[in-house]
Amino acid sequence: MQLCFAMKANSNLAILRLFSNLGGAFDLVSGGELTRVLAAGGSTSRSVFAGVGKSVAEIKLALEAGVYGFHVESEPELARINHVAGQLGRKAPIAIRVNPDVDAKTHAKITTGKSDNKFGIPLKYAAAAYEAAAKYPNIEIKGVQMHIGSQLTSAAPFVEAVKKVIPFVEQLKKLYGITYFSVGGGIGIVYEDALASGDAAWWSSKPEGERPLTPESYGAALAPLLAPLGLKILLEPGRFLVGNAGVLLSRVEYLKRGSGKNFLVVDAAMNDLVRPAMYEAYHEVVPLVRDSARPAMQADIVGPICESGDCFAKDRTMQTLGEGELVAFMSAGAYGYTMASRYNTRPAPAEVLVSGSRFELVNARENFDAMLAGEKIPGFLKT
Ligand SMILES: *Cc1c(COP(=O)(O)O)cnc(C)c1O
Repeated sequence: MQLCFAMKANSNLAILRLFSNLGGAFDLVSGGELTRVLAAGGSTSRSVFAGVGKSVAEIKLALEAGVYGFHVESEPELARINHVAGQLGRKAPIAIRVNPDVDAKTHAKITTGKSDNKFGIPLKYAAAAYEAAAKYPNIEIKGVQMHIGSQLTSAAPFVEAVKKVIPFVEQLKKLYGITYFSVGGGIGIVYEDALASGDAAWWSSKPEGERPLTPESYGAALAPLLAPLGLKILLEPGRFLVGNAGVLLSRVEYLKRGSGKNFLVVDAAMNDLVRPAMYEAYHEVVPLVRDSARPAMQADIVGPICESGDCFAKDRTMQTLGEGELVAFMSAGAYGYTMASRYNTRPAPAEVLVSGSRFELVNARENFDAMLAGEKIPGFLKT
C-alpha cells in the first residue's frame, strides 16, 4: 500500500512535511504542486501526477523529478508524454485513469466517475488506450488508476466501481505486468456535526447503518476485493486527512437586523472559503466563547463581498453574537485555503499549525504590497 495525499485539499508546506515525515507521498495535479512537494522535502519518486490538462512544461518537470507515475487521462496526453520523455531521453511511467461510469451519489461538481465527466478514459475504450501506450517507445506501463468522486459517505459506490474495474485490472496484469492499482480518494467527512464527531461517544451513538465512512469500514469493504489482485494499492485521500483538522477563524463585524431576517456579517468571505457558495456546502459554525445563558438567534452568516452568494449559512440558529466576537467555521482544513481567491482585493488569510498545545504561524497573512507587486501601469497610459 502506498498513501499519496491528494494535496489539492491542503498544500501548505507544513502539512506536506507532516505527511512526508509519516511516510506519505503525494497525488499532485500541477507543476506548482510538484514545486511544493520539492520545497517541503517530500518524495517525488513515490508521488503521482494526475490531471486532464498536463502541459509540456509540467510533464518535463515531473519527468525530471522522477515521479512514480503519470496518471493519464486521454490518448493525446499519452502521445505528448511519450514525446517529451523522448526529448529528455527518459521513459515515462504511466497508469491510465479509467472511468468506471458509476454514480458516486455526491454533489454534481465533485462527481468524477460518470461517463459524462471529463475525467478518465471510459472502461470500454481503455483497452485500446493501453494498446496505444504499449507501442510508444518512451512509455512504461506501470499501473491503472480510478477516482470516482469526492465526499462519498458510503462504501457502496467504491465497491461497485472496484468490482467493475477488477476484470480489466487482471487483464492488464497479464498483458503488461502492471504493478499497481490506484483506487483514488473520495472518503467523505462529517460536516454537520463536525465538533461532536471529534468524540468517540458520537460515533457509538450512531446506529450501524448511519455511521459515516471510516478508514476501517472503507478498508473492510475494499481489502477483500483488492488483496487477491496481488498488486500494490495506491490510496489518494485528500479531504479525509485534513478536512476536520482545520477551522477558519473569523471575527464578527456586525449583527445587522433586517426586516424579518438577521445577518451576522463576519470578516471572512467566500474568497477565503468558497465551498458554501460553490457546492452549497454546509459548514458548522461555532462561537469561540460559548455562553448558554445568552438567548439564541437565527441569522444568515455572510461575508463582506459584493455578491449575494457570499453567504456561509442560511437561517442558522446560534447563540446571539455581536461585534468583535470570534467564530470558527469547522471542517475548513480541506478545499479551504487552497481554493481561496483574492476577489475584492482581499488578501489571503494567515495559516497557523496547531499540535496539542504548540502552535506556529505557517503562512503569513498576505499584505497589500505583495498583492500589487506584479502589477504596473503601462507606459502608454502614462500621460
Ligand atoms: C481530488 C482527487 C483526490 C482526492 O479526493 P478527496 O475527495 O479529497 O479524497 C484523489 N485523486 C484524484 C485523482 C483527485 O482528483
